Amino acid sequence: MIITIRNAANSEARAQLMALLCRITGSQGPITTTHMNGREVVAIDSALINTEAHSLLKSQPAVEQTHSLKTPYQLASRAFQSENTSITIGSTNTCTPVTIGGINADPVIMAGPCAVENREQLITTAQAVKRAGAQVLRGGAFKPRTSPYQFQGLGIEGLHLLAEARNLTGLPVITEVMEPGMVEIVAQHADVLQIGTRNVQNFPLLLATGRNSKKLPVLLKRGLSSTLDEWLLAAEYIIAAGNPNVILCERGIRSYDPQTRNVLDLTCVPLLQQLTHLPIVVDPSHSTGRRELVPIMSRASIAAQAQGLIIEVHPDPDTALCDGKQSITPEQLEKIIHETTMIAHMIR
Ligand code: PEP
Ligand code: MN
Repeated sequence: MIITIRNAANSEARAQLMALLCRITGSQGPITTTHMNGREVVAIDSALINTEAHSLLKSQPAVEQTHSLKTPYQLASRAFQSENTSITIGSTNTCTPVTIGGINADPVIMAGPCAVENREQLITTAQAVKRAGAQVLRGGAFKPRTSPYQFQGLGIEGLHLLAEARNLTGLPVITEVMEPGMVEIVAQHADVLQIGTRNVQNFPLLLATGRNSKKLPVLLKRGLSSTLDEWLLAAEYIIAAGNPNVILCERGIRSYDPQTRNVLDLTCVPLLQQLTHLPIVVDPSHSTGRRELVPIMSRASIAAQAQGLIIEVHPDPDTALCDGKQSITPEQLEKIIHETTMIAHMIR
């Protein structure tokens, strides 16, 4: 159940409501509320609300409205918020901000190397993806690698290089954070926090990104085998922790055929648009694992009404330290942006 709190509620009325919510949920408090589209809301498990609790809640002077939803996720649900969530990426102090979601917004293209390898590689790529028309620079500083012997990323040095690339190009930056204790440090340098597929149910990490002090947007990748409900519940953790700025990213799911790295589930894009108001982007790089499939799956993703793409680009893909097989060149990116923009305008 979602409870909308009255804007004008005084502190006494609020305190009374919070005490009641603690009593109903068995929480020690404090209760976290979230500001969504001008409303202050809090969600609790409907199973805890019996008739008595419901009438007590309804009689609270701080309560404006209660909403009962049938889905396990609440604040992420389209049934609660019918308008698309619109999220601004980047701040005018440091870069050129871009908006994702909302009505008729153009698809947002995030592009850059899988991993930040060195200064020259990153700056060259950042300038090239900007020239190609990308609006956000991606690059991993902390890399979740399957083998401990593979390149693990430059760490903090990578964050500094990303911030330098932003200063030089004006592109906002997205990068992955893998540990709750690193969220604030990554947030000092990045404009979007990425949660990788392997961490989609790392609940302490979800909560930490939800509580990040700058309320930076979080790009939440789909888990290797997430159902849509599990994925939306992961998003719900972030929103319920106070941060409504969640972008979902379909990056392919694990299946049995090694021809592709994963299986790109494009049906999830229109399905998610029924289920949630959150923006949805597609990663055609990790979902296919094959660079020759990236252009056509990018076009297909935009035709399926994805609100953006996140694509791995490298100046010399064959020498990339990470994910070269699925990385494309800046020239190929430019063509993809041209084609997907035409598709987006055609289907609008
Ligand atoms: C990445 O974007 O570089 C990455 C590691 O993605 P995923 O978590 O989808 O594998
Ligand atoms: Mn990668």
